[in-house]
Amino acid sequence: MTSFSTFDSLPLSPSLMENLSGLGYDEPTPIQAAALPLILEGRDVLGQAKTGSGKTAAFGLGLLQRLDPEVLETQALVICPVRELAEQVATEIRRLARNIPNVKLVTLCGGMPGRPQDISMKAGAHIVVGTPGRIAKHIRKEQLLVSAIRTLVLDEADRLLDMGFEEEVKEIVHQIPRNRQTLLFSATFPEEIRAMSRKFQKNPESVIVDTALAPGVVEEREVVAGPKEKLRALSRILRQEMPESALVFCATRQGCREVAKALSAEGFSVATLHGEMEQRDRSDALIRLGNRSVRILVATDVAARGLDIEDLPLVIHYDPANDPDIHLHRTGRTGRAGRSGKAFALVERRRPGALFPEDLNPQHGSPPPPAMVSFLMNGGKKDKIRPGDILGAMVKEAGLNAEDVGKIHVADTYTVIAVRNGVQRKVQKWATAGRIKGRRIAPMPARDIF
Ligand code: AMP
Repeated sequence: MTSFSTFDSLPLSPSLMENLSGLGYDEPTPIQAAALPLILEGRDVLGQAKTGSGKTAAFGLGLLQRLDPEVLETQALVICPVRELAEQVATEIRRLARNIPNVKLVTLCGGMPGRPQDISMKAGAHIVVGTPGRIAKHIRKEQLLVSAIRTLVLDEADRLLDMGFEEEVKEIVHQIPRNRQTLLFSATFPEEIRAMSRKFQKNPESVIVDTALAPGVVEEREVVAGPKEKLRALSRILRQEMPESALVFCATRQGCREVAKALSAEGFSVATLHGEMEQRDRSDALIRLGNRSVRILVATDVAARGLDIEDLPLVIHYDPANDPDIHLHRTGRTGRAGRSGKAFALVERRRPGALFPEDLNPQHGSPPPPAMVSFLMNGGKKDKIRPGDILGAMVKEAGLNAEDVGKIHVADTYTVIAVRNGVQRKVQKWATAGRIKGRRIAPMPARDIF
C-alpha cells in the first residue's frame, strides 16, 4: 500500500474535493496520506495519531464519502471521550461537508441539556458525534437507531478507556451491524487498545505516524501456532514472504540461538543479536544485516533496543511482546518513511482474522542466498581508511563494476565491504596479491554465532 502526496489521486467525490481547496487543505497531512486510501477502500484502520495530526479529516472524509444524504438514517457514529473533543470533531466534519446539501449532524454529549438533543434526534441525523454515556442512553431510548450505521469511529480510544467508558462503548458497539467499517484512533497502544481492536475490527490495517518520519503502512497479521509448531510457522512465513531482509524477535537469548540454528539448518542466511554476544559480534551482525549479506536477524528486545536498524520489509514477533510499547517499537522497524511493511505475530490462541500456518503459501526449495557477500579488512577510521579508497581498488584493480560494490562500512579499526553475490571470486582472486593502502582483504568469517 502506498501513501500519496496530493488529494487529487483519491476517489473523493467532486464536492468533497472542491471544498478541500476551499478550506486551504492543499496537501494531506501524514496521517491522511497514509490512512485515507485505506479508509476510502473500506478497510478497518487502526491509527496512531494525536490531536493536531489531521486525523479528524482522515475519518471525516471517509465517512462523508460513504454517506448517502438522500436517506435520513444515522449512517455514521463517532464516539469521543469528552464533550470538547466531540464538539471539535463535529465542527470539522461540518466544515468538510459544507458542499454536500442537507447533511445533518447531531452531537450527543453528557453535561449538556438533554431536551435539545432529543429534539434534534427526532428530526433525524445522518451523522452522530458524541460521548459514550449519552449515546448509549439515546440508543436505549430508541431515539438513536443504529441499524443503518456503516462507519463507526472510536476517537482517542485510549482516553475512552482511561475515563472508564469501556462498558458503555461495548454496549454501543455490540448493537451496530457487523458489516460496518470500524476506524479506531489512539495516541497510544496499550494491550487494552489492541484487545479492543481485535474485538471490534476486522483485519485492521495499522497506520503508525512517527512524527519524526513520513508515515508508512504496516500490515499486521497473526499466525496461530502452538509451542511445537512455532518453528514450522516461522519457516512458512519467511518462505511465503521471501524478504530481502527480516527481523525476528525472541524473548530470550536461548530462544534466539535455537531459532537461528533451526533457520540456518534449513538454509536461511541468518545472524543473531542478543546480550550475551561480544560487542564486536553484535556490530558485525548489524553490519551484515544492513549491507544485505545476511537476510535474517534473530534478536532479543534488549539487544535491539536503541539500535539504528534501517527500514526492513518484514518483522516477525516469534515470541509476542506482552508490553504494547515493545510491540509497537518492534513493529516500527518496518514500514518507515512512507514505505510499506509487514509484521507477523505468532500467537497461541485463535482470534478473528488470524491465519493458520496452512493458510500461508510457502515457496519450496532452498531459500535464496543473500544479495551481497561481506569482505573484511583490518584498518578503519583510525588508519584513515576512506570508502573512496576501497571503491577505487574494487573497480580499478579488482575489475568490478561500481554497481557490484555495496555498502562500505568503515568502523574504527576495521572495514566491512559488501560486494554483489556472484562477484566474490573475482575479489578473492585479486585479494591474493592485491592490497588497499597496504592492507589485505578477505572474506568475512561467519563466526560461530549460535
Ligand atoms: P485534528 O488532528 O483532526 O484535530 O486536525 C488539526 C487541525 O488541522 C484542524 O484544525 C484541521 O482543520 C487542520 N487540518 C486537517 N487536515 C489538514 C490539511 N490537509 N491541510 C491543512 N490543515 C488541515
